Amino acid sequence: MSTDDSAEWSDADESLLARLDYTYGSQEGGTEANETCSGRTEVNISADTTVTSDNDITHKSGQDSATHSDSDTCVASRQPPTTGVADKGENPLTSGNFNPLTMFIKSQYFTVTDLTTQLWCEQHMLYALMGIEPQPPEPLEGEVQVPVPLKTADRPEVKAGKSVHLARELEIHDFVKVKISSKGEKWAVHILNLLSAIQGFLSGISVVREVPVFGDPFGTGDLFFGIIDELRFDQETYSVQLSELKTRKSERLPGKAQKKQHIFQVQVYKRLWDNLVRGEFSADHFLTKLSLTEEADQPLSDEIVQLMDASAISAETLRQLLTNVLSAAQSLVCISSTIIEYVQQDTGISIGQTKVQDDEERLLRAFHWCMEFWHGRREVQGVEIEEAWKCHSCEYASICEWRQQKCEEYRLKNALQS
Ligand code: SF4
Repeated sequence: MSTDDSAEWSDADESLLARLDYTYGSQEGGTEANETCSGRTEVNISADTTVTSDNDITHKSGQDSATHSDSDTCVASRQPPTTGVADKGENPLTSGNFNPLTMFIKSQYFTVTDLTTQLWCEQHMLYALMGIEPQPPEPLEGEVQVPVPLKTADRPEVKAGKSVHLARELEIHDFVKVKISSKGEKWAVHILNLLSAIQGFLSGISVVREVPVFGDPFGTGDLFFGIIDELRFDQETYSVQLSELKTRKSERLPGKAQKKQHIFQVQVYKRLWDNLVRGEFSADHFLTKLSLTEEADQPLSDEIVQLMDASAISAETLRQLLTNVLSAAQSLVCISSTIIEYVQQDTGISIGQTKVQDDEERLLRAFHWCMEFWHGRREVQGVEIEEAWKCHSCEYASICEWRQQKCEEYRLKNALQS
C-alpha cells in the first residue's frame, strides 16, 4: 500500500530514478532481440529508496508468485486464531470507528496494484496493512511444525521476477539517479517519466516501458497511480497497444483468480491512460489530492530543471510542469488493444498471452466493490468457500478471523444437514 509521505520526507537525501531518454534510440530492435526476457518490477524508483512504488504492492500481494493450489478447502479442524490482530490491541475490525481510507491511505493516493491485491483477498491485504507478521500454520495432529511463510516480497520467485523485469527495462532505458527533497519533487520525476514516454511516441519511437499514469479513473474523487509495463505505438495505424508482463515460477498459465486480477489491473491502466489522453484529469485535482497546492508554485529544484533540459518542455514550477505534460498527453491516442503476456521467469520463455476484452460492466463492478471498503461502506471480506484454496498458502491462515468464521459457518451448516 502506498506509504505515508509525511514520514517519507523527513529524510532529505531521498533519490529517484528518472529516464531521460526523451528521444529514444533504436528501441524496437532491442526490444525484439530480448523479447524473451520480461517481467514486472519497480523501475522508476530506486530499490534503495523508501518511496513505495506501484510494483512493490504487486509483489507484496503474491499475485505473481504462482504458489497457489486450486484445490484447497476450508480446514475446519485447525485451531482457531489465538494470536495476531486481536493480540496487538489494534484490531480495526472491532474498533467501532473503522475508516480504512484515513487509516491506511495516508499518502492520499491508491496504486492500481492496491486494488489487485484487494481482489485476491481483502482480509489478507488488511492484515498486511496492519503490519501483522506472517504466522506459522497451526500443525494438524501428527504434523511437524512448518516454518513461518516468507513475506511475499521476500519470496525467491518474487525477487527473480523483479530482476527479470529490471533487466527488461534496461534494454531500452538508461536511468539517471535524481536527488529529491520533497514530495513535490518525487511527483515531478514521475511526471517527467510520463513525459519521456509521450515525447518518445511523438518523436517516432514505437515502444516505451514503465510508463507512469495517474488520475481518477471512475470519477469517484480518488487518485490512482500506476506504472504501465509497456506501450507500443503503431505509427501506421496510429494506435496504441498496452502490454502487461507477468513472470511465473511455473510453466503453467495462472488460474482464473490470478487472471482476474491481471485483467482488472490492465483495464484500470487503460482507463487511466485514456483519461489522460482525453484531458479528463486536471492538474488542480492532482495537486489538491496530494496536498501539493502550495509546493506546486515553488520553483523546481535545479536537478529537476536539468532533467527537463533534455525535453522540449519548460516549466519553472510543478504546476506548470504538470499542466504542460497533461496537455502534451492529449496529442496521443487512447489504447486500442490490451494484452497480458506470461513468461517463465528462469527461462524467459513465453508461456502464453491473454488478449483482454473490454468489459466495462465487470470492471465497474469490481472497482466499486473495492472502493466500498475504502469508503467505509462495508466491512472487510476474506475469500468465499469457492476460493478457500487461497488460504492454503496464506501466511495469515492460522490467525485469520474471517477464515475461522467461515469454517464455523460451514461446520454448523454441515451439522444441521447431517
Ligand atoms: S486465510 Fe484466507 S481469508 Fe484469511 S487472509 Fe488468508 S487468504 Fe484471506
